[in-house]
Amino acid sequence: MEFRLNQEQQAFADEVREFIRTHLPADIARKVRRDQHLSRDDYMRWQQILGQKGWHTFNWPEEYGGPGWNVIQSYLFEVISAEMDCPIIQPFGPRMAGPVIYTFGTEEQKDRFLPGIRDSTVWWCQGYSEPQSGSDLASLSTQAEDRGDHYLVNGQKIWTSYAHYADWMFCLVRTRGDGRPQEGISFLLIDMNSPGIEVQPILMMEGTHSFNTVFLDNVKVPKENLIGEQDKGWSYAKFLLEHERVDNAAIGVTKAAMRRLKAIASQERSDERPLLEDPLFHARVIEVEAQLQALEVTALRVLSQVASGQAPGPVASLLKIRGTEIAQRISELTSQAVGHYALPFQPGYLRDEGAEEPVGPAHAATAANNYLWRRSMSIYGGSNEIQRNIIAKHMLEL
Ligand SMILES: Cc1cc2nc3c(=O)[nH]c(=O)nc-3n(C[C@H](O)[C@H](O)[C@H](O)COP(=O)(O)OP(=O)(O)OC[C@H]3O[C@@H](n4cnc5c(N)ncnc54)[C@H](O)[C@@H]3O)c2cc1C
Repeated sequence: MEFRLNQEQQAFADEVREFIRTHLPADIARKVRRDQHLSRDDYMRWQQILGQKGWHTFNWPEEYGGPGWNVIQSYLFEVISAEMDCPIIQPFGPRMAGPVIYTFGTEEQKDRFLPGIRDSTVWWCQGYSEPQSGSDLASLSTQAEDRGDHYLVNGQKIWTSYAHYADWMFCLVRTRGDGRPQEGISFLLIDMNSPGIEVQPILMMEGTHSFNTVFLDNVKVPKENLIGEQDKGWSYAKFLLEHERVDNAAIGVTKAAMRRLKAIASQERSDERPLLEDPLFHARVIEVEAQLQALEVTALRVLSQVASGQAPGPVASLLKIRGTEIAQRISELTSQAVGHYALPFQPGYLRDEGAEEPVGPAHAATAANNYLWRRSMSIYGGSNEIQRNIIAKHMLEL
């Protein structure tokens, strides 16, 4: 679905396109186009270019350095960025830590932490999950013992995306053991260079490294790094998760994947005609495209609600489920479209190392990897089963 833009929106879209055309480094765009893995440097280079323009934190209020865009402008920026092969903006700073800090932090914390997020000079990671606490996050057991001017933190976090790149971690810790599990949790900002932190990699099946286990052994965290009130961290954590789930709908990236699927299915042949003209395959593509259009409209509705200051609430769960299911379906159809050329295992090509050439057409080389990676979308940010529970309880009142 293409929205008809008014003159002002068209001028904005032109400005975004022109900026990306003249500033996005070609080597990064090439990797994104090929669906290859990006390094820390790739992400940081692009985010810093956006930071200098004031667009890295495009969803922030103006008073904290956001560009003052409305919902449509933010939406256009995301869609055009994906269409023009920009890397996704890593969410941990601008989408997660930043909004929590400017909403619940002190003036000192805002002055100290927001500039590094705005300029993308500091990489953040999310220390929520633990080996025994994923879906049941409130059962987390990493302890923060009150030692006067600091907390002494002991425990283990797991599945911590990009902890090996991170300078800082926002972390949920237990500061009280009695009462409801949600009541004794606090939200701490932890310097990843603190003595006692050890980051161990968890490698993905295709050989890349984005996950980690983070061990915290007697880590001293100054009291000034506590966000909001001690023992009240659950409400800040939930605020963050609701926003994370709206972002998980990932419309811009999914629209780009949809366009790629159609382009591939036009090039691949079935019974001597383009696969996209095969009635069955065409019907499958059209079905998911219609679902994506419906999601897009719903997401815009929710985003305008968020822009007017309301929390997204349980509808965020609905966006998360549909967004991730649609993205998974597109990756499935893309793998089907390239057939057996999805099969070769080419980690060197995926990581853009050396001169490994794809075995089949270039558009097939990362299809299987993409398919496998997208399976994780229905797990992270709270699994889709848990999102269904939230909808059942809070929307359907079952
Ligand atoms: C790609 C990726 C990136 C991640 N990045 C981070 C990160 O940066 N930081 C971080 O803290 N965490 C991260 N996670 C962890 C993620 O938040 C957890 O994996 C998720 O919350 C699920 O927890 P779990 O893995 O412990 O599964 P479990 O909670 O053990 O669940 C196992 C299965 O049981 C189902 N289940 C559990 N309870 C219920 C229930 N009550 N009703 C119905 N079904 C249920 C789940 O849906 C799931 O299918 C990441 C995960 C992935 C996949």
